[in-house]
Amino acid sequence: RPEENTTNDPKILEKHLKETGGKVVTRFPPEPNGYLHIGHAKAMTLDFGYAEKNDGICYLRFDDTNPTAEKQEYIDGIIENIKWFGFKTHQITYSSDYFDRLYEFAIQLIKDDLAYVCHQTPKEMSQGRESMIDSPWRNRPIEESLAEFEKMKKGLYKEGEAVLRLKMNMKSENPCLRDLVAYRVKFMTHPRTGDKWCIYPSYDFTHCIVDSLENITHSLCTLEFQIRQESYFWLLDALRIYKPVVWEFGRLNLSHTIMSKRKLQQLIRENYVTGWSDPRMPTINGLRRRGYTATAIKQFCEIIGVSRKDESLIPIEKLESVLIKELDKTCPRAFAILDPLKITLTNFEKFIEFEAPNHPKNPSFGKRKISLTKVIYIEKSDFRMNDSEDFYGLSLNKEVGLKYGINITCTKAITDKDGKVIELEAEGDFKKERKPKGYIHWISPDQNEKLFTGEVHVYDHLLICEDPSTVDDWLAQINPNSLTCY
Ligand code: ATP
Ligand code: MG
Ligand code: MG
Repeated sequence: RPEENTTNDPKILEKHLKETGGKVVTRFPPEPNGYLHIGHAKAMTLDFGYAEKNDGICYLRFDDTNPTAEKQEYIDGIIENIKWFGFKTHQITYSSDYFDRLYEFAIQLIKDDLAYVCHQTPKEMSQGRESMIDSPWRNRPIEESLAEFEKMKKGLYKEGEAVLRLKMNMKSENPCLRDLVAYRVKFMTHPRTGDKWCIYPSYDFTHCIVDSLENITHSLCTLEFQIRQESYFWLLDALRIYKPVVWEFGRLNLSHTIMSKRKLQQLIRENYVTGWSDPRMPTINGLRRRGYTATAIKQFCEIIGVSRKDESLIPIEKLESVLIKELDKTCPRAFAILDPLKITLTNFEKFIEFEAPNHPKNPSFGKRKISLTKVIYIEKSDFRMNDSEDFYGLSLNKEVGLKYGINITCTKAITDKDGKVIELEAEGDFKKERKPKGYIHWISPDQNEKLFTGEVHVYDHLLICEDPSTVDDWLAQINPNSLTCY
């Protein structure tokens, strides 16, 4: 638990304690511009987890200040994912719920001479920031800024013609204190507030104020926001409202995949994957379709922990191994052949049934019946024309055990005109007189000669390289064999 990095005025603290009863309050603040991914799972494990461990509460807050990219579909998807994880949401809120209050705070700042309307172009603004030179509008009279801000609100300025800026410190070593933009003009219909506003508050303006209004005691965010901590506290001090403790944690990066929503969008748009829930995607929905459970993902997040400096790449195998360990305990087993090779048992006409345990180590899973008929199928890779020391499968004149069934010896390999093996013949040893070198899995049609068939998708890594941040062209790293269909 890092040091608390803020203190509040006793009066403000008293009001805060009255409103919260001293409870820990956290929030998970996704922007609804995409579906959640495994990186968000780490953030949620911390936000919801810290509240839960401390008997506190956690808000789900949609950070919807940028109507350009945000959609109801994503809001619904995020709510559904959080339910699936079983995280307890105290209340769902939206940054847009606070638009009226944020606007009032903006007026207050102008009146206190802590904000001004600026007409610099974005280019002039960034040049001014870089060379630490004040905007020519910085010292205009308060009354003028109030009138100009009103004009912005009424839609009398086009996008880019006027912004509200905070009067911070253009000479600060920290670029995030060089008069940040608080409001910009945007003629966009907002999913929740419709056409009520044509000015929208920036992330920097909104996030800290809403944290304060919701009495968030611990505002957890990823390390890239560390540089913005000073402006976070500056604004709350300027408004004389409650300041949460701010803790940063490292962003999760997994090998062989990417986490940026912008890049995930691109994969979908350019048809590299079928959508947000494609099993190759690092999204929660993709992982679910791949067979991941909520418990495995949460356990993975617990294992990787909160380390502050470690933004290094976590091998994706670490995530996989957590799931494998869980599924090994919880999943009943069955045989499946993906790439079949037909074998005819020449000394057998009948039909026999065997019993196989549904779980190799846990008898409480019970048993299932598996049938053996004259024709069986094994995996192509379990047969080799040329036997070798290290091969435990079937070969010509070699005996192998059918798992939970009989032993068979291959007597003939039928090949096509290119010499490729297309079918085998074998003799069965029903008494299992010898102990074979290896056992292989197999399937047979059932008593009614029915073979259960289906399409199987086998997925591999999305990207060939381990760390896409080290390559120039990440799209060139897309694994062409990330999906094999059988
Ligand atoms: P992107 O840059 O892909 O849009 P973001 O950080 O803007 O990602 P948000 O939806 O705003 O995504 O994130 C909601 C919360 O999840 C934030 O607290 C953010 O810091 C956290 N988060 C996002 N990505 C990761 C990640 N890879 N690892 C840990 N936390 C993350
Ligand atoms: Mg974002
Ligand atoms: Mg964000």
